Amino acid sequence: MINRINGHKTNTNTKKNKKIFSNISNKIYYNRQNLIEKGIDWSCIYLTKNLLNDLILNNFFKNNMLNKKEINVIQKSAKQAITNNKTLKSNNLELLYLNSDVYNKLKPQWQNNKLVKSVKEGNNAAFFARANKILMPEKELQLSIFHEIGHALNYNCSKLWQNVYKFSNISTFLTYLIFGKEVFNMPKTQKKSSSKKEALISTSPMIPNLIEEGVASIKGNHEAKKFVNKNLYKKIIKNNKLSFATYMLKFGFMYISFKFIFDIKNLLQKNI
Ligand SMILES: [Zn+2]
Repeated sequence: MINRINGHKTNTNTKKNKKIFSNISNKIYYNRQNLIEKGIDWSCIYLTKNLLNDLILNNFFKNNMLNKKEINVIQKSAKQAITNNKTLKSNNLELLYLNSDVYNKLKPQWQNNKLVKSVKEGNNAAFFARANKILMPEKELQLSIFHEIGHALNYNCSKLWQNVYKFSNISTFLTYLIFGKEVFNMPKTQKKSSSKKEALISTSPMIPNLIEEGVASIKGNHEAKKFVNKNLYKKIIKNNKLSFATYMLKFGFMYISFKFIFDIKNLLQKNI
């Protein structure tokens, strides 16, 4: 009896699925021109984004080529900036340059952390809020240190920016959660959905993240101005501007990709 009921159910479900599938393939067929045009637009934007990214990164690495003396000045200035700030000092903000000795002394869970590893390899610089530590490579990316100090200032010296910082840590997760919800949200009425609005809602959790990054750079630049010479200050500003440009590019591309997916969803939901 149970088998018969289940068998009947499966049969109806298969029929239903077949109907949905043929409905979707019909819609794809009738909207093929529109879909191809959208695909070409998206590919052009993807290529432009990659070209811009390469351009920014090339500029970034060129700007980051420092001599020994400049590296010394920056590292000394960063130390001074931290000790001169009462809150950072009393909260014991630690600044570590990850050479092999320092890395080997870290606890195993730190050594196995992906971000810590990439700092050690010279590919990243990072502020770890819970441990109140800034981890820097020994020689590379030294211009980014004041940006990381900016994150530390946000987290240690203002309740508002501490909350924005905490929210930033979950913004990527929230973005994909909202995006998933919007993609599978099938409106019951025939009301036209707006892809722009849906893409903006989905990407909106990234906005506080962008703002916090920008404020960290502004605060970092402000600190740098007090301690380094004009030439290095210019390089720090350029460094922070280029890093922010990569964030903006990533955000813009995410918005465009989401909009493209919502465009297709809305196209397929329309009556042919
Ligand atoms: Zn940052």
